[in-house]
Amino acid sequence: MRDETKCLHSGYTPKNGEPRVLPIVQSTTYVYDSAAEVAAVFDDPTKGIIYSRFCNPTVMAVEEKIADLEGGVGAMCTTSGQAASLLSILNICKVGDSIVSLPTIYGGTINLFSFTLKKLGIECIYVDSESSDEEIKAAFKENTKLVFGETIANPALKVLDIERFANIAHQMGVPLIVDNTFATPVLCKPFEYGADIVIHSTTKYMDGHAVQVGGVIVDSGRFDWTNGKFPELTEPDESYHGVCYTETYGKMAYIIKARMQLMRDFGVYPAAHSAFLLNLGLETLSVRMRQYCENAQAVAEFLEGSDKVESVIYPGLKSSPDYELSKKYLKGCSGVISFIIKGGREAAARFMDALSLASNEVHVADIRTCVLHPASETHRQLTDEQLKAAGIDGGMIRLSVGLENVEDILEDVKKALDSI
Ligand SMILES: *Cc1c(COP(=O)(O)O)cnc(C)c1O
Repeated sequence: MRDETKCLHSGYTPKNGEPRVLPIVQSTTYVYDSAAEVAAVFDDPTKGIIYSRFCNPTVMAVEEKIADLEGGVGAMCTTSGQAASLLSILNICKVGDSIVSLPTIYGGTINLFSFTLKKLGIECIYVDSESSDEEIKAAFKENTKLVFGETIANPALKVLDIERFANIAHQMGVPLIVDNTFATPVLCKPFEYGADIVIHSTTKYMDGHAVQVGGVIVDSGRFDWTNGKFPELTEPDESYHGVCYTETYGKMAYIIKARMQLMRDFGVYPAAHSAFLLNLGLETLSVRMRQYCENAQAVAEFLEGSDKVESVIYPGLKSSPDYELSKKYLKGCSGVISFIIKGGREAAARFMDALSLASNEVHVADIRTCVLHPASETHRQLTDEQLKAAGIDGGMIRLSVGLENVEDILEDVKKALDSI
C-alpha cells in the first residue's frame, strides 16, 4: 500500500460484520478463560493484552498504522511527545550515560535534555551541525548511547542531514533517534536514510486538529543492540523474569522493552479515546500534508518579497541554506515558517496583534493558521545563549500555515505587515 492508503487502512481491517470504523475499546482489563492463559500472556506479552496501562486494542491499531507509515517493525504510543522523547532515551540510557544532540530542537526537548535528564544523571552533549564529522565524533564519550536530532527543527527549521548523522552514530556504535514531528512520514521516512528510532509529537500534524496531546516511538528494527554497549537489552531483565530482549524478541527488542519495562513502570499510555481521535487525524494526513506544503510555500515566498521582513526561514525557499537538504530528504517542507520582522520584539508583537484570521496560540501544525513568538512564549525559559544555539532571534515569529484558502491567509499576513 502507498501512504494515502496506509493512512486509511493500516492497523485495522474489520472482519465480517465488524464495525467499519476503528472501535474504541473502553476497558482497562481483558478477560481470559484460565489462570494459565493469563500466565502465558504475562510470560510473553506479544501473545495477548493484559492491562490498559501499557496496551489497548484501539491504541495498538494506531501504533500499527504509524509503524507501517514509517516503515518500522513496531511502535508505542505515549501520552505526549515529551513522554515519547523521554522514554526513547531512558530505554537505552541510565545514570552515568550521555547522549549527543543537535541543539536545533524543540524548546521542551532542550529543557528535558539540559535540566531534567541531567538530574537523572544523564548528560546531554550538544554538537553543531556545522562541525566536521571528526569534531562531532570527538564530542562522544565512552558512555554515549545515542544521537538525537529533528528532521525539520522546531522552530529553527533546519533540515537534519539524516544520512550523515546516522553514519556518525553507527561508526560510534550507537543509534540515531530522529524526532520526525514536523515532516511526518508523509514528507520524510527517516529509516530510509539510516535512522534507527523515530519519535513524534502526534499532537501536531498527525492529530492535525488540535484536539489531543500525544506521542509515539517507532522502532526500525535495524539497530544491532548486541554490540556490547547496551547490556540492558542483551542481558536478563531481572524486573521481567530474566527475559533477554534481543534474544527473545530479535528485531522488536527495543520497542518491546519500552512497553514491557518502561510503560509498565511509568504508565504514560494514552486512553483508547485519544487514540481514536489520533486515528481520525491520521486518516487524512497525506492529503493534509500536501496542502500544508503548498500553502506554506506560497506564504514563505510572499514574506521573502516583503520589505517589512528581514529574513524568512523555510527550507523550501531557494535562498535557504537547507534547500539542497530539503530536496534530498523531504517531499515537501511542511507548514511551518519562521521569519524575522524588521524592528525586533516590538514589531513582532504588533504584527501578531494585527492578525485576524491567524490566531495567537501556543501550538503549531494546527489545521487553522496560527502564530507564535518563541522568544516570549515557548522558549522563554531559555537563556539568550540557548536561544541563539536553538537558532532563535527576538524578532522571530513562527507562523504555522493552515488549510484555509491561501489567498485568505496571504491577505491576513499582508494586512498585519502593513500595520507595522
Ligand atoms: C511539540 C513538540 C514536541 C513535544 O510534544 P508534546 O506533544 O507537546 O509533548 C516534541 N518535539 C517537537 C518537534 C514538537 O514540535
